[in-house]
Amino acid sequence: MMHAEPVTPLFETVEVDSPRVACAGVTDSGHPRVYLHLDSRTGDVICPYCSRRFIMKHHDTSWQEY
Ligand SMILES: [Zn+2]
Repeated sequence: MMHAEPVTPLFETVEVDSPRVACAGVTDSGHPRVYLHLDSRTGDVICPYCSRRFIMKHHDTSWQEY
């Protein structure tokens, strides 16, 4: 029996609250602990070590006032 799971992207996307994130990888092989800064224009950054994409959780509405 098949499971109806969403298609997994090639690399994981991680939603974050801060424009500065620390990434230590999903495994402990060859991935130093690094600090990444989200691009202020796109609201995301891709880790050069594990290719995970960090994206600001509320970036789309950050400039909208209700
Ligand atoms: Zn990483």
